[in-house]
Amino acid sequence: MGTLKLENIRKSFGSVDVLKGIDLDVKDGELVVFVGPSGCGKSTLLRIIAGLEDATSGDVLIDGAAAGHIPPAKRGIAMVFQTYALYPHLTVRDNMGLGLKQAGTPAAEIAGRVGKASAMLSLDDYLARRPAELSGGQRQRVAIGRALVREPKLFLFDEPLSNLDAALRVNTRLEIARLHRELSATMIYVTHDQVEAMTLADKIVVLNNGRIEQIGAPMELYNSPANLFVAGFIGSPK
Ligand code: ADP
Ligand code: MG
Repeated sequence: MGTLKLENIRKSFGSVDVLKGIDLDVKDGELVVFVGPSGCGKSTLLRIIAGLEDATSGDVLIDGAAAGHIPPAKRGIAMVFQTYALYPHLTVRDNMGLGLKQAGTPAAEIAGRVGKASAMLSLDDYLARRPAELSGGQRQRVAIGRALVREPKLFLFDEPLSNLDAALRVNTRLEIARLHRELSATMIYVTHDQVEAMTLADKIVVLNNGRIEQIGAPMELYNSPANLFVAGFIGSPK
């Protein structure tokens, strides 16, 4: 299972209110895209879901259980960052397996899961390389692989394509869509890109200035935007 519920999540940094009451239900197996302009609070919300940041108030429920006191490593969540965050001195194989190793997973189990993930991501030929010997797209696939091997309940992607060039952005986006289908995994995907949101999402959450403007399926937002902000954001050409 991998359901997520957010109840009235608020977050302030000092006197600045960054999230102003976020309520959301994510069903098992859904791919939900958070879309909104830079600075609207998308990454902060993901970090709160992952447990990397505490909300000022409100609750995160994972599979129905309050996650407030569950540390990040125990939440069954894996996050993929824009910057890949790979260890330069480790091989692809070791980058992908490190989290499992730290969690005390037996070596044979790690090898099996890394093998499965590298096959899914076409990384078999690169397992002995270090990140510096890879292209940007390959590095991002390793970062996705590192999330896959943990077999999480919930995948969080924070603008994973932002550092890739246009062609690779399309390929990697299709790859993520394929993984979503093959794994039937619950995924939350953050982007400020309307095209990514429209093409990937089962459900789009439009954020603006710490609030949800609208939640709906891509065509629902496109055809019936709740307000001018949503209309401008979803409708504006790239
Ligand atoms: P987004 O990911 O949508 O671009 P963020 O969640 O990164 O937005 O940031 C939302 C707002 O919160 C921004 O104004 C940012 O400057 C502020 N912010 C984020 N993290 C911190 C922090 N640790 N301390 C103070 N302000 C922060
Ligand atoms: Mg961000």
